[in-house]
Amino acid sequence: MAKIALITGAGGQDGAYLARLLLNKGYKVYAAERRTSSGELWRLRKLGILGDVEVVPLELSEESNVSRLIERLRADEIYNLAAQSFVGTSFEQPLYTAEIDALGVVRLLEAIRIRSPQSKFYQASTSEMFGKVSVSPQSETTQFHPRSPYGVAKLYGHWITVNYREAYDLFACSGILFNHESPLRGAEFVTRKTTIALAHLKRGNGPVLKLGNLNARRDWGFAGDYVLGMWQMLNAPNPDDYVLATGESHSVRDFVTLAANHLGFDIEWRGEGREETGIDRDSGRTLVEIDPRYFRPAEVDMLIGDAAKAKRTLGWAATTSFEGLVEMMAQADYDEPFGPGR
Ligand code: NDP
Ligand code: GDP
Repeated sequence: MAKIALITGAGGQDGAYLARLLLNKGYKVYAAERRTSSGELWRLRKLGILGDVEVVPLELSEESNVSRLIERLRADEIYNLAAQSFVGTSFEQPLYTAEIDALGVVRLLEAIRIRSPQSKFYQASTSEMFGKVSVSPQSETTQFHPRSPYGVAKLYGHWITVNYREAYDLFACSGILFNHESPLRGAEFVTRKTTIALAHLKRGNGPVLKLGNLNARRDWGFAGDYVLGMWQMLNAPNPDDYVLATGESHSVRDFVTLAANHLGFDIEWRGEGREETGIDRDSGRTLVEIDPRYFRPAEVDMLIGDAAKAKRTLGWAATTSFEGLVEMMAQADYDEPFGPGR
C-alpha cells in the first residue's frame, strides 16, 4: 500500500517541490491549501503534478478544520509547511503571523496527539530563529535570538515540536532550514524580486530595481535540495532536529551582481548607504537604487549554517552551488518574463 503524506502549505515553493519528490517515491499526496481555487496552485501546475495530488482545504487558524483533516487522513507523514512566511509582512501583521506560525503548529500537534499519534510530523523551522547571531556558523546547538515577529513565532513552533516529541513520544522533527530559493520563490523575497526585475530591465521594459539593505548576508541554497532533507528526517530511525544549509554566505549585493552578470549586465556600485546605486558599466543605465521602505525595523545581518549533523546522520548535503542557483533563477525569469504564476 502506498504511504500517505499530507503537506500543509502545498501551494507554496517548498510544498510544490516536496509534493513532486513524494509522488516520485510512490506516495499518495494530499496537498492542503487554504484556498483551493486552481489559481492558487500554480506551482503544482508548473511542475506538472496538479493532477497527481489530491487537493484538500486546510486553514491553520481553524481548529476543527485541522483536527477533522488529521483524523480523516491518518497520514503516515505530515509536513507542516504552511506559514505567513515573509519577514517583512510579519512586522506589519505580527498577531496574524503568531496565529499561524506559532499557534497553527500546536493546533496540528494536538490533533495528531489525540487523533493520529502514529503520524510522523515535520515542522518547517527557520534560520531566522538565530537572528542576531552570537557565533558563526550556526548549528542545532547555537543560541536563538530572533529579530522579527516571524522569527519569534517560528521559535514557538520549533519548541512546541520538541516538547510534543519529549512529552508524548511523537515522531516529530524540526528542520531548521536556511534560506532556500528557486524559480518558484515568492516574488517578495529579495532573490526572486531581483531576478524578475533584472530580467525585465534586460528586455528593456522594466523600472529600476529598488532594494533595502544590500549588506545583509544569507546562506542561500536551492529549494529542490532542501525538500529531500525534510523527507530524510521523517525516514530516519529516530526523530530529531536538523540544520540544512550550504555553509556559504553571500551578501544581497553579491546576489544582484551575479544575477545581473548572468543577464549580460556589468554592474558597478557607486555611492554609499542610501545613495548607493548599481550602474550598468556599458550603457551607463541605472539598474539598482536604495529605497528605505525596504529596510526592516530590526535586521538579521548575517547567517551561515553548519549542516554537519544532517550530513553525518541523514547523508544530506546541498548539491546546487550559489552560482548555479542564481543562474537558474535569472534564466527562468528571462525565459518567462512575467514569471510563473504572475
Ligand atoms: P511559501 O510562502 O511559498 O508557502 C507557504 C504556504 O503556506 C502558502 O501556500 C500559503 O498559502 C500557506 N499558508 C499561509 N497561511 C496559511 C494558513 N493560515 N492556513 C493554511 N495555509 C496557509 O513558503 P515556502 O514554501 O518558501 O516555505 C515553506 C515553509 O518553510 C514555511 O513555513 C516557511 O516559513 C519555512 N521556511 C522557508 C524558508 C525558505 O527559505 N523558503 C527557510 C526556512 C523556513 P497562500 O499562498 O494562500 O498564502
Ligand atoms: P529573509 O531572510 O527570510 O528575510 O528573506 P528575504 O529574501 O525577504 O530577505 C533577505 C535579506 O535581504 C534581508 O536581510 C533583507 O533586509 C534584505 N533585503 C534588501 N532589500 C530587500 C528587498 O527589497 N526585499 C526583501 N525581501 N529583502 C531585502
